[in-house]
Amino acid sequence: MKIAIVGAGYVGLVTGACLADFGHNVRCVDMDPAKIAALQASRIPIFEPGLEELVARNMAEGRLAFDTSMAWAIAGAEVVFIAVGTPSRRGDGHADLSYVYRAAQDVASELTGYAVIVLKSTVPVGTGDQVERIIQDQRTGMPFAVVSNPEFLREGAAIEDFKRPDRIVIGTEDEFAREVMMEVYRPLCLNQAPILFTGRRTSELTKYAANAFLATKITFINEIADLCERVGGNVQDVARGIGLDRRIGNKFLHAGPGFGGSCFPKDLSALIKTAQDYGSNCRIAEAVASVNDQRKRAMGRKVVQACGGSVRNKTIALLGLTFKPNTDDMRDAPSIAIVTALQDAGARIRAYDPAGREQAEAVLQDVDYAEGPYEAAQGADAVVMVTEWDMFRALDLDRLRLSMRAPILVDLRNIYTPAEAGARGFLYTGLGCPSEVTAPSLPQESLLALP
Ligand code: NAD
Repeated sequence: MKIAIVGAGYVGLVTGACLADFGHNVRCVDMDPAKIAALQASRIPIFEPGLEELVARNMAEGRLAFDTSMAWAIAGAEVVFIAVGTPSRRGDGHADLSYVYRAAQDVASELTGYAVIVLKSTVPVGTGDQVERIIQDQRTGMPFAVVSNPEFLREGAAIEDFKRPDRIVIGTEDEFAREVMMEVYRPLCLNQAPILFTGRRTSELTKYAANAFLATKITFINEIADLCERVGGNVQDVARGIGLDRRIGNKFLHAGPGFGGSCFPKDLSALIKTAQDYGSNCRIAEAVASVNDQRKRAMGRKVVQACGGSVRNKTIALLGLTFKPNTDDMRDAPSIAIVTALQDAGARIRAYDPAGREQAEAVLQDVDYAEGPYEAAQGADAVVMVTEWDMFRALDLDRLRLSMRAPILVDLRNIYTPAEAGARGFLYTGLGCPSEVTAPSLPQESLLALP
């Protein structure tokens, strides 16, 4: 099939590369000339495991191409995916749909025949209706259908998620468009991926409901972690204890510094706004958003507390900055609030992230960047684990501690246990576990360095 993708960001690029890999003929268009120039030279502008190779192979085999020309992309396309950004609108938290509407207009003016226009971007209920009106208003005379097909991939595991999805949701009331979408996803049907057909509005809402539910799960376990600290419980055991119940499931039950990223915060906010617009309540989502915002800054206070009540003129080393591992995405990352809180309290920040430095430099001020975890820890008064990259899971804790000025480890991802960190001479603070297990015998050099 001939497929056009509008927007070559995380979702557009992964969708385009995977559909090309299924054998479709895919043209991706983006308004950012620098991004397109990089892609034309087989350079991937984002960090996503496996994507570079997938793009290069499909380009070489002639099934995937990139350009800034909408006319080139749309000419002859049977299906057009719109995968542009829908960030929070400045000021009111609604989804900013200006990119989607602009894309719809641009697509409409270039249609050369019947096409199914697929909204892959996460859009509020009713956006499909509006896009349909926009295309009709162009009066091109070309027949078309507008379908909702939200994306559920996770950054860092995007290819696997796209090729082996838990489900594909397609929202349309149009019988022919439904058949066309079946054809697009036929290779996945052969893998027995469940395809759920719904009405268009239901499909739009399903995406927001999924993200709000996952955000709720994360926030719930974070509050249980706080309670564990008060009552002397262990949140990881609680999570295991409830996660083995199949009605609950064990995913998204890891206590952490609060959720961030390009989706959960803005989608939660957009869902709340939609509910308000329609006079409906979304009080759980409101509570989740508010608890999560407070939590990110509270993590800064946790570090201050672990450092004996003050971080003034101290060097705090942050390991990991991106909102989760295996991505370079810094959008709404908890590290932003943590860095700001610590800088407000007078700390100097040194940081290391395996992939996020470039994006971090654009959003964080006055941060010294190290080339690795041990360099970040050199002479630091505390190390804070912010993002659970695999490479931080098996650090040489002796080497880390010996290079530090004070052996303080704040582990916001519970990568280590109080016992193992304590045995290595660290004053350890985790989440929802007994805090500050002091080593039975601190080595001499660390004792000297204690504040
Ligand atoms: P992104 O910002 O990485 O990419 C969007 C791209 O669209 C940019 O490259 C931009 O230049 C391009 N663009 C904007 N307007 C255009 C136009 N008129 N013509 C051509 N190109 C245009 O965004 P993303 O992370 O890929 O997200 C896209 C959508 O998918 C959002 O609605 C998001 O909520 C949703 N989503 C994202 C994820 C994720 O993990 N990133 C997962 C599921 C759903």
